[in-house]
Amino acid sequence: MLRFTNTLTRHKEEFVPREQGMARMYTCGPTVYRYAHIGNMRSYLMADGIRRALEHQGYRVEHVKNITDVGHMRQEMVERGEDKMISAALAEGKSLQEIAAFYTQAFLQDEAKLGIAPATVFPRATDHVAEMIEITQQLVARGYAYVVEGNVYFDVAKYPEYGRLSGNRLASLLEGVRVEVDPQKRNQTDFALWKAAEPGRTVKWPSPWGEGFPGWHIECTAMSTKYLGPQLDLHTGGVDNIFPHHEDELAQSEGAFGVPFVRYWVHGQHLLADGLKMAKSTGNSYTLSDLEERGFDPLAFRYLCLTAHYSARLNFSFQALRCAQHGLAHLRTLVREWALAGGQASATEVSQAWRERFWAHVEDDLGLPQALSVLWKLAQTDLPPAAKLSLVMEFDQALGLALRQVAEAAQGLPLSIQRLAEERGDPRTGGRYQVSDALRQEIIAAGYEVRDRRADTLVLPRDRGFQPDKLVGALSSSGDVPSLLQEPDACQISVNILAHDYQDDLRRCVESVLRHGDAHQLEVVIVDNASTDGAGQWAEELARRDARVRVFHTDHNVGEGTGRNVGLKQSRGAHILLLDTSIELTGDILTPIIRTLSTPDIGATGGWGLCSEDLRHFEDASHEEVDAIEGYCMAFRRELLREVGLLDEKFRFYRNLDLDFSMNLRAHGYRNIMLSGLPVRQHEHRGWASLEEGERDKLSRRNFYRFLSKWGHRTDLLYHTIHGPGPGS
Ligand code: AMP
Ligand code: ZN
Repeated sequence: MLRFTNTLTRHKEEFVPREQGMARMYTCGPTVYRYAHIGNMRSYLMADGIRRALEHQGYRVEHVKNITDVGHMRQEMVERGEDKMISAALAEGKSLQEIAAFYTQAFLQDEAKLGIAPATVFPRATDHVAEMIEITQQLVARGYAYVVEGNVYFDVAKYPEYGRLSGNRLASLLEGVRVEVDPQKRNQTDFALWKAAEPGRTVKWPSPWGEGFPGWHIECTAMSTKYLGPQLDLHTGGVDNIFPHHEDELAQSEGAFGVPFVRYWVHGQHLLADGLKMAKSTGNSYTLSDLEERGFDPLAFRYLCLTAHYSARLNFSFQALRCAQHGLAHLRTLVREWALAGGQASATEVSQAWRERFWAHVEDDLGLPQALSVLWKLAQTDLPPAAKLSLVMEFDQALGLALRQVAEAAQGLPLSIQRLAEERGDPRTGGRYQVSDALRQEIIAAGYEVRDRRADTLVLPRDRGFQPDKLVGALSSSGDVPSLLQEPDACQISVNILAHDYQDDLRRCVESVLRHGDAHQLEVVIVDNASTDGAGQWAEELARRDARVRVFHTDHNVGEGTGRNVGLKQSRGAHILLLDTSIELTGDILTPIIRTLSTPDIGATGGWGLCSEDLRHFEDASHEEVDAIEGYCMAFRRELLREVGLLDEKFRFYRNLDLDFSMNLRAHGYRNIMLSGLPVRQHEHRGWASLEEGERDKLSRRNFYRFLSKWGHRTDLLYHTIHGPGPGS
């Protein structure tokens, strides 16, 4: 009995299809004007898992996965140039069709590399505009939609069931509605089925309402019902699809066809990175090629996904991927050993019991992590190798790790290698080690692994291309370094510098610290946040020459908050000075900083300070006491961290992180003091300068809202509130 958790009922339910022996399944597919990231791929792996489970039960699966080419409203993003990649392609004279075709190919390749079975149909949105128009007409005719000046909207009030899937009811929805009010809508929760083309738009289609283009959701209704009929058995996607995408799809499909749309809605939880949902816009996304470039096998990612249930968030890290890769490599080795051992598997009761144990987990809401652990338990038994092999080959129908290929490759060692292995037999057992070692080297050089055992030697093909050692020592998160915060002070001040490329700036900053810090017992803690321009190597060499310098490397861009925390956790000075690499010391700033910090009620100090009246706008301060110290040059006593905690790692971008920390100090009752006239020079912040306007806004905005939601109501902490308008304001 196959069971899935149905988002519609929020219960685990037995799968009963509408037609016996047949499962109709729809998966919201990729948007193809960019590469899919591995978070997206996790959702497709879930759909693949469901499909494999269905097929093992003997169902014929009709699986439709749409390709969202540049048809719908998200087109607008493209035209506003929000996506660099596509703007670049357009600038090179590529057409939108060519771009879509390119990323479609890339997506299909990624799926193949992950062992995802191709869908039965991959319909493209732009090929189905006629169907979208037809359904929209139907909705107007049935009274579910209304037309305003060439736009067609779904009238949510006409569909009382709206909100059933997501649990968002109308009243609560209205509160959450964005500020941008569309005056054409009867209700702000209504959504567009068709939009009139604005002047100058090139991607548009004729329609009964004039030229325009489809809304976001209608494509999935059009393509699912065209290929699967008006009633589907399963519909999958990531949890972010539940609202509004699937809620709207459900409303418009049932509105248009008058029958229940989907029996089982199954949604996969997100893949996170550094604790946040993986998304291109957050800057924490990786593509499958990114993993391959680092020497990982795509199937290691599949293995990693198998270790978490689809309904649970999974935090991606290279550390975790490395473990998955080792797990997979170990499994492959076992499969090879069993394959080489030969023999016939006979059907026994014991085998049958293992089989049942494994599939019971798969059938119980796709319990792949438990199923995988059954496999590992089986591997540890003393069942004959042939029996294990035969069971694991069967289990792989659910796991999709391409283990059959591994077994077949092992059984078919090339003749030349077999000869070498045989040749080596006598010298080895006869103690002629030189000959035996030379032959061994020859086999290894040909790409095989040689394992001498008491009775015999195993020769196994080596895993291709994986060099885990390349990454050893690099950190995936701040949790990978021990905290020295509770340890006693070991020097006067720790200067913390976080670098992400711009080697020259790093050098200028570090050298100026070493030059002007002579009078103090100091250490310099450099965190190289996955630089690729040699900044990390430069720091490494410096640390070898100068005992005051320590360096840490991360294996990917971990973001500002995390990168800073690595340094903070490892600092041992009584004081800590955070410096940005755009800063150059032109004299001794440590003496005045340390002197200022000797006053116990002072929290942070530094060269630049900001004040605010409303926590929304900050201005350069005109008096010594300030609300916030800018992170370019900010110092505090290390012991304070024990009291107020480390930096908030959700701030991946640097903006507002300093404000957040400063307000945190204020909330703990400390004053922040600006030291004007410090001998420091501020050069261009090259990370910031390299960003385009749109990107700056995007990156800043998220931090800004995060800051506002934490501190927006705490005007009581502001200097302005406490002391009234200062002389300068
Ligand atoms: P999109 O190309 O943005 O429409 O996303 C394609 C699919 O990936 C959708 O089913 C999303 O729900 C899913 N998705 C997006 N981000 C993630 C993530 N971080 N983890 C898992 N699934 C995701
Ligand atoms: Zn969809």
